[in-house]
Amino acid sequence: GNDAVPPYAAQLNPPQREAVLTTEGPVLMLAGAGTGKTAALTARLAHLIATRRAWPSEILCVTFTNKAAREMRHRVGRHIGDAVEGMPWLGTFHSIGAKMLRRQAELVGLQSNYTIIDTDDQLRLLKQLIQENDLDEKRWPARQLAGLIDRWKNRGLNPGDLDAVENEAYANGRGTQFYKLYQDRLKTLNACDFGDLLLHILNIFRQHHDVLGQYQQRFKYILVDEYQDTNQVQYLWLRLLAQTRKNICVVGDDDQSIYSWRGAEVANILKFEKDFPGAAVIKLEQNYRSTPQILAAASGLINANSERLGKTLWTELPAGEKVRIVGVWDAPEEARRVGEAIERLESEGAPLDQVAILVRAQYQTREFEDRFIQIGLNYRIVGGFRFYERAEIRDALAYLRTIAQPADDLAFERIYNQPKRGLGAKTLEAMRRHARKTQTPLAAASLDLADSDELPSRARNTLVGLLGQFVQWRELEEKVSPSELLRTVLVESGYEEMLQKDRSAESAGRLENLTELARAMEEYETLGDFLEHVSLVMDNDRADDGEKLTIMTMHAAKGLEFDHVFLPGWEEGVFPSQRAIDEGGLASLEEERRLAYVAITRAKRRCTIYHAANRRIYGQWTSSIPSRFIEELPDEHIESETTMSGGASLWRANWTENEDPFAHVSNARPDRSTARGPGWQRALSTGYDSTPKRLAEPGKSAASFAAKPRADIAIGARVFHEKFGYGVVMDQEGNKLEIEFEKAGTKRVLDSFVRLVTD
Ligand code: ATP
Ligand code: MG
Repeated sequence: GNDAVPPYAAQLNPPQREAVLTTEGPVLMLAGAGTGKTAALTARLAHLIATRRAWPSEILCVTFTNKAAREMRHRVGRHIGDAVEGMPWLGTFHSIGAKMLRRQAELVGLQSNYTIIDTDDQLRLLKQLIQENDLDEKRWPARQLAGLIDRWKNRGLNPGDLDAVENEAYANGRGTQFYKLYQDRLKTLNACDFGDLLLHILNIFRQHHDVLGQYQQRFKYILVDEYQDTNQVQYLWLRLLAQTRKNICVVGDDDQSIYSWRGAEVANILKFEKDFPGAAVIKLEQNYRSTPQILAAASGLINANSERLGKTLWTELPAGEKVRIVGVWDAPEEARRVGEAIERLESEGAPLDQVAILVRAQYQTREFEDRFIQIGLNYRIVGGFRFYERAEIRDALAYLRTIAQPADDLAFERIYNQPKRGLGAKTLEAMRRHARKTQTPLAAASLDLADSDELPSRARNTLVGLLGQFVQWRELEEKVSPSELLRTVLVESGYEEMLQKDRSAESAGRLENLTELARAMEEYETLGDFLEHVSLVMDNDRADDGEKLTIMTMHAAKGLEFDHVFLPGWEEGVFPSQRAIDEGGLASLEEERRLAYVAITRAKRRCTIYHAANRRIYGQWTSSIPSRFIEELPDEHIESETTMSGGASLWRANWTENEDPFAHVSNARPDRSTARGPGWQRALSTGYDSTPKRLAEPGKSAASFAAKPRADIAIGARVFHEKFGYGVVMDQEGNKLEIEFEKAGTKRVLDSFVRLVTD
């Protein structure tokens, strides 16, 4: 009877419940967007624990992002309470791989305190290898090699496994050689990259059957979300781990496979039934997320793809609004229109965390950031330029890494002369040479070098002093908390002083960032834990903080949902991307279309798509054609904004030279009256607001938003802002001001939007 239904399953429909209650044997849940796959998977996790089929530590549960893992932990916690505390194996493939590798590092020639290097370090390392081996970096860029190595790792290939074609793919048949050089160098550094977190584990599973056996025993149940985006190496992992017990439940949607460029293989989901004969296949068809209009628009679009399983989706929600298509003149107008729409939502009481702008390419976010800073709209960028990637943070982390990990040459190289200690390129060259000769890490080699007379005595003394400091810091690490250690290091290394003496506009912000770093570290007991955390967040998304609208890529939005979704830049060359168009193959266009499907189906209530008639890409104005995906949306489910029917002349009449924000921009910008092309016509026929209210100030054209600080404004100055009123400048970073307003509180605004109050 119904009263026997546990709370975590109460809300679920029959097929979802089946997915929860079919605990034994393989289960495949294959269903469209918003049908409650993740919800069912979460309930299954709660069920396994609540019914004591397994301890939390006996379940392997893989999510696509750290954020999804946090959410799942939180939800399960609501049902089963503290038991969820012990869910060590709930996370992304990378975080699970990192944890396994800590325990088994020695099996692949690493120590358990290995470092995870990021793409920046990876590129520097590859560059070094290319130089050392006298290869022409221009001809065979490090970036290309990095891409290949990534691909090989995603396929589970070690250097010895490359076939002739792969080997040929780099430097005329030196693929294997360079891949091997790189792996060897990583080992010397006691480091690995993200791909290794997966590949090393696969190698361990393959070569050490006792270890594999232990994990097979341990994981009574395996749960995997977003299975359509697993790559080969992840697939092989799962197959090995599930081999004995076969209690594996995977959920996914072939229409949402959007990571093939990162090695994901949608085929994995299609062959699941073959790999696990007798699998229960569960289909979900009721969508609980989006209105019928949104759902029908998205389904109509994805229908244009040929390679799909095909499925039915229905919803009981009220019809709702049609998907809105808005044509605009250019990117600044697009940002302005989106900003206005969001302000309207805000005034209607919509919470900002239910609003998202999803872009195809990272560069699209800048226009929105600038605009939102101007109008004081709270936003966060997910997956963009992040805190841990700022220079001062990377420097601080490099100090900490060198302390934790004396063999971490890349870290040591970053800071051996930062702040400036008079150790130049010559010293580095000598250090590197010596390290290669003696097969020791850079830091150890430099100590050795300081004993010889290869270096001038000043450099020698400096090196001895620096390395001596590291010895002391390592001793200190045992005694104080990680954040105290950082504070000490920043003072004793002279790094803090360097920033204090620096008079540039950024240095104050940098010091604040470092304070923030120390604050973040307070949550961690050991330096090792903290560094691992950093490596993982740098790879992925970051924590939520308060009510802000979200700007992120469509890729990063997978699995998420928002009441209101804005989709800018639906033009040929932006979306679908130029690359997909150039490649021309069906596969890449179909993947772009799946991405469009993912993007639209993030929306619960309202979805608005924008296309601009002109766009400036890499500094060049180009007129654009609306995305083919707009044309493919079924007419009866879309609504184009047609506030004007005139044409260029009417449009033109609304726009006097003085108001034209671009009147001061020379050359390249296309003249409205002569613009041509279907994109332009579409933009005109769909109409747009032509009065750029805030941009109208002469001399303050969009092009003048360079990050130069305004000379007449200083910290402490009293200013007036059109929207927020009077305030005092608290901080100045480039052309951005942090102002404490008398009424509106602290806001960050662009300096061109305030007036200096002199009385
Ligand atoms: P995606 O393919 O985008 O990852 P999904 O299939 O994982 O989507 P969920 O995110 O699990 O879908 O669910 C979509 C929304 O529907 C969520 O808000 C969820 O709370 C809600 N939902 C799921 N199942 C039910 C149900 N049986 N009754 C009511 N609401 C539900
Ligand atoms: Mg999901």
